[in-house]
Amino acid sequence: MECRNYIGGEWTDLGQVEMREIRNPANTDEIVGRCPMAQREHVQQAVDAAAGAFPAWRALTYQERAKVIERASEVLEAKAEEIGRMLTREEGKTFAEARGEVTHGADLLRSYASLARQAWGGVFSPAKPDTFLYTLREPLGVVSTISPWNYPITIPCRKIPAALLGGNTVIVKPSQLTPFTGWHMAKAFEEAGLPSGVLNMVTGSGAVVGDEMVRNPIIRAISFTGSNEVGREIAGVAAGHGAKAQLELGGKNPLIILKDAELERATDLAMDGAMKGTGQKCTATSRVIVEREIAADFVEMLLEKVKRITAGDGMNPDTYMGPLVSETQRQTVLEYIRIGKEEGARLLCGGGIPSGAEYDKGWFVDATVFDNVDPDMRIAREEIFGPVLSVLVADDFDEAIEIANSVDYGLSAAICTRDVERIMDFVNRIEAGVVRVNHHTSSTDTHVPFGGVKGSSSGFREHGIMAVEFFTQVKTVYIQPLSR
Ligand code: NAP
Ligand code: MG
Repeated sequence: MECRNYIGGEWTDLGQVEMREIRNPANTDEIVGRCPMAQREHVQQAVDAAAGAFPAWRALTYQERAKVIERASEVLEAKAEEIGRMLTREEGKTFAEARGEVTHGADLLRSYASLARQAWGGVFSPAKPDTFLYTLREPLGVVSTISPWNYPITIPCRKIPAALLGGNTVIVKPSQLTPFTGWHMAKAFEEAGLPSGVLNMVTGSGAVVGDEMVRNPIIRAISFTGSNEVGREIAGVAAGHGAKAQLELGGKNPLIILKDAELERATDLAMDGAMKGTGQKCTATSRVIVEREIAADFVEMLLEKVKRITAGDGMNPDTYMGPLVSETQRQTVLEYIRIGKEEGARLLCGGGIPSGAEYDKGWFVDATVFDNVDPDMRIAREEIFGPVLSVLVADDFDEAIEIANSVDYGLSAAICTRDVERIMDFVNRIEAGVVRVNHHTSSTDTHVPFGGVKGSSSGFREHGIMAVEFFTQVKTVYIQPLSR
């Protein structure tokens, strides 16, 4: 299977370029397919196609554009099994998670399409008589979306429909680890009848294709999800030519467990928040901060559950946790486990590679829990992006909040308690863009703002009206009769 690029409405063969082999991270003997590593000139071709398609696309109404987005959502929904299987083979997550991601993506598209009947401007009272004074929201032009491998459907589905609904034309880059799910995304819009050139997909490396999608002076906005390191660099380059940059970056998300929490539920939440998706979620629960009085009971109950986790091929229905996406990702996670031990945290379970023939050919790692973790340890401060949970103990609620807020990140945070006073206090004081009570830090509704604070975000929001606002600009209009 070969992945082509989608440029100007054509599935283009790029000719003589390096082809990257994509292998199943659960079994690296299995080749999923090959994907071209495009060059800057191919991005330029996509930019030209998008610029050509822009006038006609912007001339449509919001409702006309929404119809295409709605149809693309139907295509995704109808192919949830097929795309889900590809996502599991390419990225490694379980099939249940993968299929769920595709239907969630379809729901995101529907949710954006439903915004077409919103008021996209306002009418104002003028200073001069008989003046019609109002605002419009207009598209920016050609924009880029750059996304990571961990949610190759959800994340493009947060960005692409927001850009399209606003009337922009788009260049899309999937992660080089997950081009085939990217291919399905572009295909869904093609099958939905999106005009040629309105959406273009270019595959390749961030350093070449991604960089050109940021640096090219025609690009008016970049919506990026990925690491802090790359995000900061993109913000600088974009600012250099006056392009807007939306950055959704990493997290080190805390779940606070107060002493009145129901431990059965709290331990389920901690485990699922930390280990689902093999911990490769920006919203993964990577720190549990538990009140001292119940810490020993909490840890004992949590361990009993985590030790029962079954790792394996995501297509096996008994698998709770698939492999990590790549060898590099596994090296990073194993390195953090080594650092945790060296820093003096206590390894309670996991910490290595599971043994057995079924694990030999994949990038598996054990579900890992540390306790005796101090807030200043690296494993308590840095994003690991794997199934590694750090348990920290706090003397009381105030200390728990202090620990929770002591990192540079601020994406998502959660608390388990029945105490309404504490809940209100938590919502008020926690430094996070998404806050949940009696749930773990992951999972989001499709129609409400999503994004972080502090180091986790540039402050713009995805989902819903705010996402479309990022991709549009306001025009203020005064209309006066000549006679005045
Ligand atoms: P990454 O290394 O930053 O890459 C993200 C995307 O940017 C990839 O498509 C990558 O291309 C591209 N890229 C790399 N360098 C670039 C450059 N100089 N200019 C333009 N594009 C460039 O992140 P990742 O490892 O794929 O994903 C994991 C990170 O994403 C974690 O930090 C995680 O927290 C974050 N994340 C955040 C959210 C959120 O909503 N806040 C959601 C999910 C994930 P390649 O194909 O070469 O890699
Ligand atoms: Mg990376």
